[in-house]
Amino acid sequence: MQDILDHITATIGQNPDRGKTARYIPDLANVDLDQFGIAVCLADGREFQSGDAATPFSIQSISKVFAVALALGKVGDSLWQRVGREPSGLAFDSIMLLEREQGRPRNPFINAGAIVTTDTYLEGSTPKEALGGLLRFVRDAAGDGNIHINSAVARGEMQTADRNFALAHYMRSHGNLTQDPQHTMGTYCHQCAIDMNCIQLARAGRFLLGGIEGLGPRLVHKTRARRIQALMMTCGHYDGSGDFAFRVGLPGKSGVGGGILVIAPGKASIAVWSPGLNAYGNSKLGTEAMEALADATDWSVFS
Ligand code: GLN
Repeated sequence: MQDILDHITATIGQNPDRGKTARYIPDLANVDLDQFGIAVCLADGREFQSGDAATPFSIQSISKVFAVALALGKVGDSLWQRVGREPSGLAFDSIMLLEREQGRPRNPFINAGAIVTTDTYLEGSTPKEALGGLLRFVRDAAGDGNIHINSAVARGEMQTADRNFALAHYMRSHGNLTQDPQHTMGTYCHQCAIDMNCIQLARAGRFLLGGIEGLGPRLVHKTRARRIQALMMTCGHYDGSGDFAFRVGLPGKSGVGGGILVIAPGKASIAVWSPGLNAYGNSKLGTEAMEALADATDWSVFS
């Protein structure tokens, strides 16, 4: 495995055609494009890393995986009354289908669905308490207390969040937002601004590996872990989800910080990061690296 990761870092990780950083969140726009890291936690407990795997980055929408687990833990399957489970075929921040579907977003991984998910785990607590609960979940999953929210990133996003506010207010007009939109959006922006490195993220992803004995804490029932992976496969890369399934064949969740969390069911939890994005807003080199890793290991669920 170490040879494979080092080879990927030396080839794909050095590709000069690196995509572009997300421009709309001030602190992400200026991240050095010239970075690449990858980490793998195998189901037998062995861990491997290569490149900038210890460099922290903004996990952004990867947080939606932890948020949906937390919200499901709180309200169970009633979450699906407020958010669907279908791919949208549209950009992560699209508002288009919301009108047709009366304020019920297509899935918990597009922004509208994630805002409803946040609204759900926020209910009954203050934003500070809710974020404390989310951080506890992520730290427990990673087995690492040194995971924090980057408040400068959160503040910057909050100031440029007009479109996300529009989604929140639109859903509120349909009764699908129960908390003060200012609180829900503040919590959402802070949730997206969690900093992690590839090693921490790959470790945190082990909670989805299906309750393998001795491998990280059992934070969700294995049926729920299986369903979250299904959502990652079908919706985890927005309108690029089909392309990711075609190229990699594994459930994954991307974020505009350039990270991707990928699960090889029953086999491994993988985190890859390179800040340059492709046209769908998913990490360009991260996707290419995952394609190479899936080829080298034959881990595709379709193999
Ligand atoms: N915080 C970002 C947003 O809402 C998350 C988007 C993403 O990572 N795709 O715009």
